[in-house]
Amino acid sequence: MKNHLLSEVELIEYAKGESLIDRLRGLFDHQIDNWDLAKQNYADLKSVIVHEKLINNISIKLQFNPKRVKSTTADLSLKQDQDECILCETNLPDEQKFIKYYKEYNFLVNPYPIFKEHFTIAKCKHVPQSISSYLNDLLLLSRDVGERYAIFYNGPQCGASIPQHLHFQMGNKESFPIFEQLKNISKDNSCLSIERKKLSFHSIELTKRFIFLIESNDSIEIMNSFSILISFIRSVVPGNSEPMLNIVSLFEDKKWRLIIFLRKKHRPSFYYLENNKKIVVSPAAVDMSGLMILPREEDLDKFNKETIEHIYREVSITKELNEYLITKLKAFYL
Ligand SMILES: [Zn+2]
Repeated sequence: MKNHLLSEVELIEYAKGESLIDRLRGLFDHQIDNWDLAKQNYADLKSVIVHEKLINNISIKLQFNPKRVKSTTADLSLKQDQDECILCETNLPDEQKFIKYYKEYNFLVNPYPIFKEHFTIAKCKHVPQSISSYLNDLLLLSRDVGERYAIFYNGPQCGASIPQHLHFQMGNKESFPIFEQLKNISKDNSCLSIERKKLSFHSIELTKRFIFLIESNDSIEIMNSFSILISFIRSVVPGNSEPMLNIVSLFEDKKWRLIIFLRKKHRPSFYYLENNKKIVVSPAAVDMSGLMILPREEDLDKFNKETIEHIYREVSITKELNEYLITKLKAFYL
């Protein structure tokens, strides 16, 4: 079996220091130098078309990115065998290398980027995508890379193109419009506001998305609040599978900001329309954060305030469920 772990000797040539961020940037530069697919796709990303739409002063970006067509149109119902899983070390392309995060995860450069530095963080072991047992890992990761990157998680039914193998992704934090959007929220947008000594828990409606925001400098507080939210959903949405969700996490100013998008559907009805009414978009964490990824150029012009709001409303949980969750959270916390 080919060894995909980037050796310290190779890494030292590229890393400018010993911090995790230095090592990640070293891995990135190594891959650009030694993997033609990554070199080409990151070079192409520099010239992708990005449109910006302003909706009541909220900036939504549209990125025309043809290289993302495979993941946007992936059939998530297909069962992939472990011997074909592209996140398992044995199946990585020859040129792809990783560095370790403790002994548990491999940092890999994503060869089909949305961000100028786009990584996949794959669990070493082939275990299914699920957040309940791994939220702490997501928080530790986002603390350790927060200086430069935000981490995101797509649930197995809404955006994870390889739901059989647990993974997170990360990209340059300034590329996620949601962080800027949340700085400008007013009382009009806030449906729930819990402020405690070590916890701030908000529910916000923004461009028809229902967003839960949990902030704390204590990871236990974040994990507890997340479990409480999930338990309230479970009480009305039965089933053993994980509730449909996307998560974005950023560690900044010594605290975590965990953003949770609860979902009703993976793809909007536009996706299934015929001819020129069709829009190929499959919202996942990045799209829900305000950066919509469109693999077809012809779809760029179909976006306006109505289309964007329609898509967000359609794929987010219902207003009724959002109100129910707020009522339950208020009763619990206030
Ligand atoms: Zn795997």
